[in-house]
Amino acid sequence: MATMVANKQAPAAAKGPGAMTGARYIESLRDGREVWIDGERVADVTTHPAFKDMINALAGVYDLQVNKYRDEMTFVDPESGVRTSLSWMLPLNVEDLRKKRRNSELWSEMTWGQLGRSPDILAPYIISALHLKDQFSAIKHPRCDFGENLENYYKHCMRNDLFLTHALGDPQVDRSEQTQNEQRPVPEDEMIALHVVEETQDGVIVTGGKQLSTAAPHSNECYVALSATFAHRNDPRCVIAFSIPTGTPGLKVLAREPVSRWVGSWGHPLQMWDEQDAMLFFDHVLVPWDRVFMLYDPSPMIKMLGAAGGSVNFNFLGWANLCRAYFRMRLMTCVATMVAEAIGVVQFREVAAKLGEMVTYCEVWRHAMEGVEHQSGPAPSGQWTLGPGRGLHIWFAQTSSRMTELLREICGSGIIMQPSERDLANPQVRKYLDRYMRGKGVDVEYKSRLFRLAHDLAASSFGMRQDIYEYWHGGDPNRNRINLMKSYDQSAMRRQIEDLISRPLAHGELR
Ligand SMILES: Cc1cc2nc3c(=O)[nH]c(=O)nc-3n(C[C@H](O)[C@H](O)[C@H](O)COP(=O)(O)OP(=O)(O)OC[C@H]3O[C@@H](n4cnc5c(N)ncnc54)[C@H](O)[C@@H]3O)c2cc1C
Repeated sequence: MATMVANKQAPAAAKGPGAMTGARYIESLRDGREVWIDGERVADVTTHPAFKDMINALAGVYDLQVNKYRDEMTFVDPESGVRTSLSWMLPLNVEDLRKKRRNSELWSEMTWGQLGRSPDILAPYIISALHLKDQFSAIKHPRCDFGENLENYYKHCMRNDLFLTHALGDPQVDRSEQTQNEQRPVPEDEMIALHVVEETQDGVIVTGGKQLSTAAPHSNECYVALSATFAHRNDPRCVIAFSIPTGTPGLKVLAREPVSRWVGSWGHPLQMWDEQDAMLFFDHVLVPWDRVFMLYDPSPMIKMLGAAGGSVNFNFLGWANLCRAYFRMRLMTCVATMVAEAIGVVQFREVAAKLGEMVTYCEVWRHAMEGVEHQSGPAPSGQWTLGPGRGLHIWFAQTSSRMTELLREICGSGIIMQPSERDLANPQVRKYLDRYMRGKGVDVEYKSRLFRLAHDLAASSFGMRQDIYEYWHGGDPNRNRINLMKSYDQSAMRRQIEDLISRPLAHGELR
């Protein structure tokens, strides 16, 4: 049995530069990272056409967080005196929760609710894990204290305002042959899942793949752990959680094809928010001991993810994402309303009812968020934590697709049939566009740009990627439904039903 010897313990995190700025963010990505796209290695993600728009747009948000929104998006870490992003603040009371909500609202407003993996959404993965610091520490290893590692890592990220990506799942090779099912030990040359190859003096050597990791090409750090599906594994070699810089030697990042590319400045109004999705390939990557958070025993992660059933009300994970979802729902509803007005269909009963359905989803979401906030309270870790909200994430997976469908239905063919910027600039076709492609009380340019926004939300390759993202990003919704069902307390209702069916009916008798 391993005993805890903290001889390799990382020094406590030093002071950092604090809240990220645009220039620092761009510079931080020039670290020799190995990013591949379309068969070529990317020399510099900050200048490559597939990534630069997104990186520059994010840099703009970082600049605003230290200038215009300094008071709403940053706080001073009491221990170090460093002013840094509110995304990294540990909430200790309701007021902190409200500040964090406002920070995420600003991230959503500035990124149009399109970034499922914005920095404020990823920071809570570390904050949530920190809730269970003692349980991570309880797994003993002679090289380090995993809970201490987590805390030091949190401070490092917080004081440098780092942008994390995360990767939880195994590659989609053969789901019937996964290490959680395997009874026989899989030989090293057949292993696909990320796993420990060996332990060395300096750290753990890992090899294997991860599918997938949104934002990896433009993140500072890759947080690697297990999802609720993969946390239950027979092979302890695959049980590991850690975080390393994205530019770590041996880590290869394969980006997918960019979405919604079109010449002209308004062809795809949301295109700059194409957060890249990537496969991660680890080829004998050294993870230093101070960056390992869990090894061989998944119990803290299973608890954190609620993957063993039981209620999870300490989980801060999804809050920023709930804020983003709320923004996205209101955006889709408003675009649908403006489209309906622009083509004179808003007064039709069927269209108005569809808009009403969209508004209903927005309102239910708002009520639910307030409920989750209302049930917040102190956790044993000292953090202020939200009430249970797992049903919300599952519900959003299904509601998001329905909203996309409704927006498409309200738009009719206009969602794909709009003139381009250059069509409008050509006097030979413009007179036809002015006559045949204008809307009700709106000119052709307004209508085209509005419909193109609808197109990017619900029909373009960007919109389709977002729709797929919303369905899958919280993990398989069916798995989540099953886990929620297992933890759902039906005992009182069950007793009442058993009582009813176990005795003769006596009409009029109330119990
Ligand atoms: C756009 C996008 C962005 C993402 N970003 C991230 C990210 O940043 N980080 C991250 O870690 N993950 C990310 N994911 C991954 C996401 O968590 C997974 O897509 C999700 O967990 C489903 O896993 P899978 O894609 O491997 O599908 P699979 O698990 O391979 O599922 C394929 C099909 O098989 C079914 N199936 C699979 N296993 C079983 C089973 N045992 N029993 C019954 N049916 C089964 C599924 O229901 C589904 O219909 C992202 C996904 C998408 C689409």
